[in-house]
Amino acid sequence: MDRFDYDLLVVGAGSAGVRAGRIAAGHGARVAVVEEDKVGGTCVIRGCVPKKLYVHSAHFAEAFEDAVGMGWTTESVRFDWPTLRDNVARDVDWLSGIYIRNLEKAGAELIASRATLEGHHRVRLSKDDRTVTARTILIATGGWPDVDRSIPGIEHAITSNEVFHLPELPRRMLIVGGGYVAAEFASVFNAFGVDVTLLHRGTEILRGFDGEIRKTVHAAMEKRGVTILTGDSLAAIEKSKKTRTAITRGDRRIDADVILVAIGRSPNTAGLGLEKAGVEADPRGAVLVDEFSRTNVDHIYAVGDVTNRLQLTPIAIREGQAFADTVFGGKPTSVDYADIPTALFSIPEAGTVGLTEEAAKALYPSLDIYRSTFKPLPNRVTGRDERMLVKLVVDAVTDRVLGCHMVGPNAAELAQMLAIPIKMGATKADFDAATALHPTLGEEVVTMAKPADRYRREAAE
Ligand code: NDP
Repeated sequence: MDRFDYDLLVVGAGSAGVRAGRIAAGHGARVAVVEEDKVGGTCVIRGCVPKKLYVHSAHFAEAFEDAVGMGWTTESVRFDWPTLRDNVARDVDWLSGIYIRNLEKAGAELIASRATLEGHHRVRLSKDDRTVTARTILIATGGWPDVDRSIPGIEHAITSNEVFHLPELPRRMLIVGGGYVAAEFASVFNAFGVDVTLLHRGTEILRGFDGEIRKTVHAAMEKRGVTILTGDSLAAIEKSKKTRTAITRGDRRIDADVILVAIGRSPNTAGLGLEKAGVEADPRGAVLVDEFSRTNVDHIYAVGDVTNRLQLTPIAIREGQAFADTVFGGKPTSVDYADIPTALFSIPEAGTVGLTEEAAKALYPSLDIYRSTFKPLPNRVTGRDERMLVKLVVDAVTDRVLGCHMVGPNAAELAQMLAIPIKMGATKADFDAATALHPTLGEEVVTMAKPADRYRREAAE
């Protein structure tokens, strides 16, 4: 008999852990996946999926507005928050059930418990108060929203975990942060008719995105009604009967019914027993791993947000798959982190793949920047005063397209498709060789004849 209870024990049933568990079981491993919460992880339970459904709902606001110019009458249209919240919650439960069934179908055992590491091969399951052993342990506990506990009154704020369960739609909402979560929820609740203020400590929101994307999204969100305050941050929260008052370091007082803090996410490793198992983590608690997701301890691996490499679901899934193929499939596989498409589901949305202009300038001496801003066709009839931005960053020496950045309708879908030629190393000439499909938004990508800007490092220095 094997001296271990399992070949693989996965801690955490999110995107990374479920994929790893399923594939490892498919390779013949005896697998247990331990989860203390609902199965599905951040993406399914309190992230991408419910958020995207909210974004779909939010887009109805502009559809109703635009409908008038298109000949429709939309009187007495109103939004009901509990209907959306509860319908989405039902969908989340359904999806979580699919995750459970997929694990079962693959032959993995699902254990509902909190798990803590007790040693190199030992895991404590607190629900049944027992210890199990596994030849290999995979840490896939994901991330958790950051909260600055040093701020007086911070307990009166919520995070993205709670935003999906608000008992009622707030009238006024303050969102602290200027990243993905802040911009997306600011857009969503603004569309639902909430008076939204976004408070960001920096001078411009959306650090890491191409500079033009940042400015374009910022301006468009303001135009749609979100108040964006930059260069200021939260100092304290005071609570009266119904109102929360945010006091900022810049001496502002902002009244809100809900204060949502969205200042990033940290690896979920507190109380996990890393020290007991001798697993090294960085100062933020991220488990340190090599290119095959192996920690400093043989037979203990980590994948997904808990390693803080790139906090994106498709990356977590790829890391889970690569781990299972490496350790149980006899096929050492590492994840390629270059040219990953991402989208910001703000309204309007942004889609991006490859290098930003700023990143490309640091790496390449000569760039051609192609840019097109135009009014999407329906806007000419509906009167919506909003333009789409499409931008290509091209290496002027090799003609290779290094990056593509878009703001406007379907930017996310376009980014996904453009990830294919960009990953293949397509040149601007390859893009130009593709015939435009008219009338579409995407045709702009293949019809930009002349660079809008030329960057030459010598000339710039
Ligand atoms: P982000 O890292 O995107 O943004 C964090 C924001 O909070 C930044 O604007 C940052 O400012 C600010 N911030 C950080 N610390 C503080 C602080 N102590 N006080 C005030 N402001 C602070 O984090 P999110 O929480 O928005 O999202 C977490 C991750 O989840 C993202 O990185 C992303 O990978 C993922 N995600 C992806 C989505 C998608 O793909 N559509 C959607 C939602 C999340 P500064 O810029 O100055 O550092």
